Amino acid sequence: MNYYDPAGLEACLGDGEDQYRFGGAGCGGYGNGDPTPERPKSDSDRPSRGGGSSLIGLLSQSIARLLKAMTEACAEAIGAKNLDDALKRLQKINIGFSDQGELKVETDAHGNITGVPPGQELAHYFGGIFGIGKNIKLNNEVNWFDPNSTPAVDQNAKQVTYPLLTAEAFQLGIPSMNAGQFMDLTVLHELAHGFKKRHPDDDSAEFDQNIWSHCFK
Ligand SMILES: [Zn+2]
Repeated sequence: MNYYDPAGLEACLGDGEDQYRFGGAGCGGYGNGDPTPERPKSDSDRPSRGGGSSLIGLLSQSIARLLKAMTEACAEAIGAKNLDDALKRLQKINIGFSDQGELKVETDAHGNITGVPPGQELAHYFGGIFGIGKNIKLNNEVNWFDPNSTPAVDQNAKQVTYPLLTAEAFQLGIPSMNAGQFMDLTVLHELAHGFKKRHPDDDSAEFDQNIWSHCFK
């Protein structure tokens, strides 16, 4: 494995708007071949019968998990006043999907991912106006069903696969994580921005580690 410093699930802007970006994660060996990843669909897609196989179904499951698993310690870690405050926000805030652009990576001559240019958005928090219209949008360019099969383009406009689970697990210093945990963490990350928590523009490792250690068992 040819890890590049994945310092950066990154970026927080002012003005009540915030972004969850990838600024530097990557892992070698994923550049070759055609992964033909299944692109997540837009949020106009209805949950399928039986639930769970649509993007919205996936998000509903994530929110249900988070509501069930929320604790005082997790609530505090994301900046809420208390457990009740965190639960209320999670129930009320509008969470959906939008296309925030195809993810871009940098590759070496062998097609291995060596870095990620700034501005790669996985999700976005919008603060609304005077507290009205707060919402979270997850980037539907991410393969939320199988984040390790997320499509990206390199500097030569070549399609590659960006292993987001591997990159995030590396950033957290854990062996691995699954797709559900990845979505849960992304929602909590954005929720924390809604509670005015911030991280440096180019580094959200500590921010995510704090959420991970308080909200996941
Ligand atoms: Zn952020």
